[in-house]
Amino acid sequence: MFYRRKHLLAIEGLHPPEIGHLLELADSYVLLNRSGKTQRDLLRGRTLINLFFEDSTRTRTSFELAGKRLGADVINMSVSTSSVNKGETLLDTAATLNAMQCDLLVVRHNQSGAPNLLARKVDASVINAGDGTHEHPTQALLDALTIKRRKGRIEGLTVAICGDVLHSRVARSNIHLLTTMGSQVRVAGPPTLMPAEVAKFGVTVFHDMKEGLAGADIVMMLRLQKERMTSSLVPSEREYFRFWGLDAEKLAFAKPDALVMHPGPMNRGVEIDSAVADDPVRSVIKEQVEMGVAVRMAVLDTLSRGDGRNDA
Ligand code: ASP
Repeated sequence: MFYRRKHLLAIEGLHPPEIGHLLELADSYVLLNRSGKTQRDLLRGRTLINLFFEDSTRTRTSFELAGKRLGADVINMSVSTSSVNKGETLLDTAATLNAMQCDLLVVRHNQSGAPNLLARKVDASVINAGDGTHEHPTQALLDALTIKRRKGRIEGLTVAICGDVLHSRVARSNIHLLTTMGSQVRVAGPPTLMPAEVAKFGVTVFHDMKEGLAGADIVMMLRLQKERMTSSLVPSEREYFRFWGLDAEKLAFAKPDALVMHPGPMNRGVEIDSAVADDPVRSVIKEQVEMGVAVRMAVLDTLSRGDGRNDA
């Protein structure tokens, strides 16, 4: 057992054997899921709460499915139905969850760091399902699993992460994971959507999409996150697509067998052209969703075994 932490709050700081362990276990869950078998004993009697302060389709349902496939009692709490709307603070919510004796807590929040705060206050193992612009660790793990299964490795690949890097927790988690596992990571996007000092994370920055894509093995597109923009950072969606939208012409700059990825939800015609998103050979976007269930099963499995409970 290589992952001895109580929580999964971020990819930053994880060591290659910890990531390797989660990916290997997730790979075995892909096979189990494809065979139609379940493993309902592992989390029998355990309670998993999905606490979502922000919308989600894929992440919430895949955690729910993963928990149920492993036999847990799964409860979904969303902001509109919880007392958060009545002014309950995050810490009161934590006390409530403790009283319910929750074992595994999956949290999504629009504030970076909210899952870390909860992890200090609840008895449960906390899994970050996306916090603000900070991290989305299970997304990076499912992306890595998709890449590893398709390309046979992660090390040595050139991965271009393109678009709205500034607001993307997916980009941050992927940058940490891919650089830790030995990929060459590039980020490509307009200067207004690029975080200052992103280069300090060991990535190469491009402000021209075609240059960023040249010779890439993997093209990872990001959603333009208008809901997180406080001012107008892009001229118009049409203009954005012209320079930063992935279409066949731009994709031709990447390697001929380059894979196209997107975490969803996609803005078709803004950051990605439908013909590319739905290309059955190049696009692995649907496969990413499948990998999401397996990765979340591996994470729940690993944390529920309770090794190293004193570790962060
Ligand atoms: N679903 C991903 C997230 O929650 C990506 C996105 O929303 O664009 O961060």
